[in-house]
Amino acid sequence: MKTIDSYNFSGKKVLVRVDFNVPLDAQYNITDDTRIRAAIPTIQKILKGGGSVIVMSHLGRPKPPQTESTEKFFDEKYSLKHIVDRLSKLLNTRVRFVNNCIGSEVQSAAKALKQGEVLLLENLRFHKQETAGTESFAKELASLGDVYVNDAFGTAHRAHASTTIIAKFFPKDKMFGYLMANELASIEKVLNKAEKPFTAIMGGAKVSGKILIIDSLLNKINNLIIGGGMAYTFIKAQGGNIGSSLVEEDKLDIALKILSDAKAKGVNIYIPVDTIVADAFANDANKKTVDIKNIPEGFMGLDIGPETEKIFAEVIAKSKTILWNGPMGVFEMSNFEHGTKAIAEAIVAGTKNGAYSLIGGGDSVAAINKYNLGNDVSYVSTGGGALLEYIESGSLPGVRAIEE
Ligand code: AMP
Repeated sequence: MKTIDSYNFSGKKVLVRVDFNVPLDAQYNITDDTRIRAAIPTIQKILKGGGSVIVMSHLGRPKPPQTESTEKFFDEKYSLKHIVDRLSKLLNTRVRFVNNCIGSEVQSAAKALKQGEVLLLENLRFHKQETAGTESFAKELASLGDVYVNDAFGTAHRAHASTTIIAKFFPKDKMFGYLMANELASIEKVLNKAEKPFTAIMGGAKVSGKILIIDSLLNKINNLIIGGGMAYTFIKAQGGNIGSSLVEEDKLDIALKILSDAKAKGVNIYIPVDTIVADAFANDANKKTVDIKNIPEGFMGLDIGPETEKIFAEVIAKSKTILWNGPMGVFEMSNFEHGTKAIAEAIVAGTKNGAYSLIGGGDSVAAINKYNLGNDVSYVSTGGGALLEYIESGSLPGVRAIEE
């Protein structure tokens, strides 16, 4: 397969699908440009190779009319024009902008583009055909360029026009950008080439969103650590008293099944033994540390306790491969962040000792960044949903479209 390292971009117009879905404040200032920075190496590589770049992205979830018309829709809140200055600065070159992604104006702007120049198209999702994966829309996008590069890992789990359908119009000239290639290499390392012991750490609010991932991981891991809000469903399923902690009553059976499946597959499961409880869901609530199976009435567990931190950290220290998804407690509140921070630090220590660590899934990435430890783990995934779906199903539509 061609990669952007081996392809000759000289004189080519290159359509690059990126994920510039960045947070904007009320004045449309970018509050976190991580996703833009992540795509810079790919764009620069193409420009240096003598190509020109047509950048395509979505931003947020605009609501264009659900008709077949391809008439222009606009919502200031979601306009990619707010990205132009930052992208120009990061690339150190002027970025042109066109206020649509298909149509005659876009065709002319693409045609006029010269070697070394960059054109940013308006939000792809201003057309409902993007998320619908409409082939004629994908074909119109495809007509703008000679080569298709997918560097939008965060959207690779969607079979949208610009992430998946478009690839068929470039049977020989399609490839992954650097970000995609790095994300895929990191997943590959964890899912298919993991050095053992392999430990998965799952946390976050709910069991429900994680069942399929846990199911799939049980075939690959040696240790499963469960923390966060989802742990209380496991405790209750085993007969513990969890007070008013978060629980999914309809998932008690599934929790028991996960425990028995793990046992059958020889996976060690670690569930918290103590917890920090509070008398309200608030940072200034009264709190105390208790045995997780005996939470008093009127109290809810909002973090793992010190004994649990110790047990989890010991398992992590002995691991050669670590996958972390989801916080251990309500880490957004300073009084209940200790467990999450301790686990982040244990992963950093394990990494220093030679383990490979992959952090992925929205809130664990937010946590690792909160403690400024993103550079001290092996890889922080930029695509939460995409990473989790990859683990669940073993590939992604946007990845298959390039590989096929
Ligand atoms: P998820 O999106 O499923 O990864 O959940 C992340 C959210 O779970 C974070 O906002 C945490 O505050 C929340 N969370 C973690 N532990 C608890 C807990 N013990 N009780 C309530 N919410 C929690």
